[in-house]
Amino acid sequence: MKRILSLLLVCLLLCGCTAADVKPERKTYEATFLSLFDTVTVIKGAAETKEAFSEAAYAVHDELLQYHQLFDIYNDYDGIHNLKTVNDQAGIAPVEVDRKIIDLLLDCKTYYELSDGKVNVALGSVLYLWHEARNEGINDPVNARLPDMNRLQEASLHTGFDTVIIDEEHSTVYISDPDVRLDVGAVAKGWSVQRVADSAPEGLLISVGGNVCATGPKDENNTPWVIGIQNPGGSDYLHTVYVSKTSVVTSGDYQRCFAVDGKLYHHIIDPETLFPSTYWRSVTIICDDSGLADALSTALFLLPLEEGQKLLDDCGAEAMWVDADANQYYSPGFKALIRT
Ligand code: ADP
Ligand code: MG
Repeated sequence: MKRILSLLLVCLLLCGCTAADVKPERKTYEATFLSLFDTVTVIKGAAETKEAFSEAAYAVHDELLQYHQLFDIYNDYDGIHNLKTVNDQAGIAPVEVDRKIIDLLLDCKTYYELSDGKVNVALGSVLYLWHEARNEGINDPVNARLPDMNRLQEASLHTGFDTVIIDEEHSTVYISDPDVRLDVGAVAKGWSVQRVADSAPEGLLISVGGNVCATGPKDENNTPWVIGIQNPGGSDYLHTVYVSKTSVVTSGDYQRCFAVDGKLYHHIIDPETLFPSTYWRSVTIICDDSGLADALSTALFLLPLEEGQKLLDDCGAEAMWVDADANQYYSPGFKALIRT
């Protein structure tokens, strides 16, 4: 009897060893969503099963969807006070909002100050005129026209960030000027991705319309992810960079543009000229915080090289600029991050 018992024990131990030694093979999976921030979201990551990956990817999607709805300025959602509600109530009443909106707007204030007013989410009234002209121009290219300059100038009188009154204690936002509108398109994607990445499993790569954030290396061997930096003048990559737990965000003139009389007009607007900025074709930022990276990509797009570099120094980020003649410029630490 004793012998039988000890045989059984050995057998169990052996079984235990085998199960622990043979690790299930991890494969890299990918999920694509079209429902977020009016762009394409791709989530990649290694998992033991497709089901395990799907669960993680859907959790990221569902969380991003909350941010998408809260920061939406064009649509209402049942039971949600979002930024459209805040805009609709401008000059009328404070709106009680989710803490996420308060946190985003507080960071937007920091980005506004850092960029000396270049990245201004209270520029909504001006941006709306460009948004309208772009949509009309894309739908009816023959009759595409620029926004009316008088209307742009009138709108520019109502872009003061100081009219956005954030009451943290009561969790409300009130726009005191009835003609000021919020538009957080310059920062919402990166900021939301960072928030979601903070609580996501390690080893995911989350890309929301080119705002890429890695929550950790690809696998247990610390293999980094490889990210392509798009050529603004073509469909190829200018470089690839290694990324393990950081963000790569690009702003480019090839995104969301429209043509009037054969000339292209893009979507990043200089608050001084009220027209698309012409310094750069694209600016790519590498920075640990994806929200800051998104704000910096827009800010540097609106600044000459030296001023952009100064801002990078203040923020501890790296950048690559591409101008209209395809010249490339790098911040001092950027080249070390390039793979090819
Ligand atoms: P993308 O959204 O294509 O990634 P950006 O991050 O540079 O590109 O953000 C561009 C968006 O930011 C525009 O679509 C518009 O909503 C908004 N925007 C444009 N110019 C400004 C500006 N000067 N300040 C704040 N927001 C801006
Ligand atoms: Mg941006």
